[in-house]
Amino acid sequence: MDKLVIATAHDGDIRVIGAVTTELVEEAVKIHNCAPTAAAALGRMLTAGSLMGSMLKSEKDALTLQISGGGKAGTVVVTAHSDAGVKGYIGNPSVDLPLNSKGKLDVGGAIGTEGKLTIIRDMGLKEPYVGQVNICTGEIGEDLACYFTYSEQTPSAVGLGVLVNPDSSIKAAGGFVIQMMPGADELLADMLNYRVQEIPSITEFIVKGMSITDILNYIFEDMNLKIACEMVPKYKCDCSRERVEKAFISIGRKDLEEIYSEGKTEELECHFCNKSYLFNHEQIGILLKSLD
Ligand SMILES: [Zn+2]
Repeated sequence: MDKLVIATAHDGDIRVIGAVTTELVEEAVKIHNCAPTAAAALGRMLTAGSLMGSMLKSEKDALTLQISGGGKAGTVVVTAHSDAGVKGYIGNPSVDLPLNSKGKLDVGGAIGTEGKLTIIRDMGLKEPYVGQVNICTGEIGEDLACYFTYSEQTPSAVGLGVLVNPDSSIKAAGGFVIQMMPGADELLADMLNYRVQEIPSITEFIVKGMSITDILNYIFEDMNLKIACEMVPKYKCDCSRERVEKAFISIGRKDLEEIYSEGKTEELECHFCNKSYLFNHEQIGILLKSLD
């Protein structure tokens, strides 16, 4: 079952957030009808989103991750909230590449490395906080570690994994973010980095039936792991007719008038959940009037 935990280790020197997201990713991959490589890319981004969303302080805050590296996958966008609820989409859900030299789904190849990873934190202020790093590998986990380390000055290790069956169903998905808190010993960071590199990928643990708590207990075996909070990460779309109306109006009076004059019913689809919203001639007329 999907679960996310927030914990500390080594007497608070280390913050760790880990999650199993198999069901969440499965749902997203079904909604977007993803081919295996696209499923892995979107799944890693969604997992990263739920991990980072859980770090938000207020339930009104929103976090958006966007990666655009010039590859065939196009742009992948994920929005997350503090309850670890996420939604996302991938520019090209049918991207499917041959396995890479390690025999893994080639997420880095699909994303590409000519572009940026952007993190937008909307905390209800006038301007959102925007952080950005150049993509280094396009594998997402490493790019996110770069973001934390250079853009937020928090040395971090990030592991993200999605195991996809040939029919695009999800065998396992999950991830973790491990961060050194200010003032922690640098030797501890080195030791932890070494340990994270030595362990198998997170999906291997999940396939064995280990829960996220089991996995973190294994990684932090002798480091006094303390679970602070648990939640259930979910795929959640918060679209509504009202929001879609706003987006529709934003195309401008001229375009709206043109659609109105054609007299047809307009169908608008939510990018995140594919729900469709219909606007008939009369309803488009009401929207036009609201602009007066
Ligand atoms: Zn939606």
